[in-house]
This record gives sequence, structure tokens and C-alpha cells, in this order.
Amino acid sequence: MRTLSDIDSIGVIGAGTMGSGIAQVAATNGFDVVMRDIETEFVENGFDTIESSLDRFVGKDKMSREEADEALSNITGTTKLDDLADCDFVVEAAVENMDIKQDIFAELDDVLPEDVVLATNTSTLSITTIASVTDREEKIVGLHFMNPVPIMKGVELVVGEKTDEAVVTLAHDLAEELGKETWESDDKPGFVTNRILMPWINEGIRAYDEGVADKEDIDKGMTLGTNVPMGPLTLADHIGLDICLDASQTLFEELGDRYKPAYLLKRKVDAGDLGKKTGRGFYEY
Ligand code: NAD
Repeated sequence: MRTLSDIDSIGVIGAGTMGSGIAQVAATNGFDVVMRDIETEFVENGFDTIESSLDRFVGKDKMSREEADEALSNITGTTKLDDLADCDFVVEAAVENMDIKQDIFAELDDVLPEDVVLATNTSTLSITTIASVTDREEKIVGLHFMNPVPIMKGVELVVGEKTDEAVVTLAHDLAEELGKETWESDDKPGFVTNRILMPWINEGIRAYDEGVADKEDIDKGMTLGTNVPMGPLTLADHIGLDICLDASQTLFEELGDRYKPAYLLKRKVDAGDLGKKTGRGFYEY
């Protein structure tokens, strides 16, 4: 099994909100990164997100222009999964859908050497179920970065039924190398964070839909009233309403009625208003 010192290059699957953030943080910390999405346009969007984020770090004097340029030059974009064949570690951050994740892991299992650890950034889905389509179930682990990845310190390590202890240690060491702090969760729906966060967001959406208060007042009530940095509706827009719906749906299916996604959340997603990433969710961006 590889240890941290064997890892030079990291493959990232998905160039969306999370994939681009993970690629950026890995590249900033000196790793070569291969970032893969299904369309060239999505890969380019990922690079745009990374460039804007690096520019903000430079603007705030948290990074020099040279460091930002070097980080960017460490990232290669691709639409071909085969281009990850030489990576020493892979993090999957594609959409929150079990069938898609299983297809990706089956392909990764074919393409990557058998001693390479494959991590998933899933918010709620079972690591064990994702791992079951591979011949390396002990080398599959949840590495759940928080959004926005370049800013948020925490990474949740999710331990599947067959995940090897050494794999959890490697995932922890890598997260620390990227400047993060970790905690462990068993492979239960939503893990620690989303099991508790999603019902909170859902209840905020229901409160809005049921006319308890207007959306600004719901967010203001929760930020000023409970000292959280963002209210539920603003946070849902940042996460992506489609991701919130998929996550809530998984929790509902696994844990029952108390997790049923809010009706308004489904309506917004059906309308294509997914939050910040489409310019419109509960608020306009
Ligand atoms: P996103 O919609 O911003 O990006 C997903 C990307 O995956 C898209 O660009 C899409 O084209 C791409 N994709 C789809 N199928 C693919 C495939 N077969 N190969 C490669 N790329 C593919 O979603 P996101 O917010 O970045 O979420 C990604 C994952 O991270 C999900 O599992 C999500 O639950 C999880 N997550 C999200 C957040 C958040 O706040 N958004 C936080 C933690 C974890």
C-alpha cells in the first residue's frame, strides 16, 4: 500500500464546485493534479473557478502571484478517465448519484494500479455500496471535503465496512498535508455532518414555503439568533439545491419521514434554479 510519501499526483473526478476546489487545494500544496469532467466545457468552467479563487487569495495577500501561477500550472484538465492512470491517489467528486458513482469506481478500478486508494467526496451515499463494484473494497474511503474547499478546514473521513485502517490513516495524512483537520464517521447515511445539516436546511426551506417568515428573515433569524455564519437558504444556494435534494432524498430513503425533502426544494431543482452555480436559487447571484 502506498503511503503519503509515495503520492505525487492526485486524480480528481468532476470539475464542479467540489472537484475544482479539491484540485486547487491539492495543486496549491505541490501535488500534480489531473482533473477530469465529462465535457471540455465543464473542465474549462473548473479552471475558471480555480483561477478566480486563486486571484482572490492573491488580492488578499494570502498568496503571491507566482504561487498562484505555479498552482495553476500543476493542474491538467481532461475528459478522458484513462488520463488518471498514473495518479497515486484519486478523489471522486462527481454528482451525488449512486449509479454514476458506481460506474466511475468500476472504471477507476480497471484503470488504476491495484495499490492506489480511491476516495469519494460523497455527501451522503454509502462508501460500502460504492466500493462493492470494485475489486479493492478495502482501498475505498470517504474523503468528504467541505464547501468551499480552499477555505473550509474540515474533512470528514468516512470508513466503509471493508475500508482498511491503513487507508483511513493515509486519507487522514493526505488531508493534513492539504492543511485540513479531520474527524471520522462510520458509513451511515449523511455521516456526521449531513445527517445533522440537511434536516436543518430542509426545515428552513419548509418554514419559507409555509410562510413562517420571508427568506431574508429566516436567514437573519438563524445567523443572528444562533450564531451560524449563514442561514439555511443562503447555505443551500451555496451548496447547490440539486446536491441538497439528492442528499435529503438519500437520508429520507434510508432514515425515514423526518428527512423527506421539502416540496419547494424539489420545485426549485425542477425549475433549474440550483443556487449560486446557476445564478439563481432562493436568491439571485
Ligand atoms: P457539481 O454539480 O458542482 O459538480 C459535479 C460535476 O461532476 C459536474 O461538473 C459534472 O459534469 C461532473 N460529472 C458528472 N458525471 C461525471 C463523470 N462520470 N465523470 C466526471 N465528472 C462527472 O457538484 P458538487 O457540488 O461539486 O458535488 C460533487 C460531489 O461532492 C457530490 O457527491 C456532492 O454530494 C459532494 N459534496 C458537495 C458539497 C457542496 O457543498 N456542494 C459539499 C461536500 C460534498
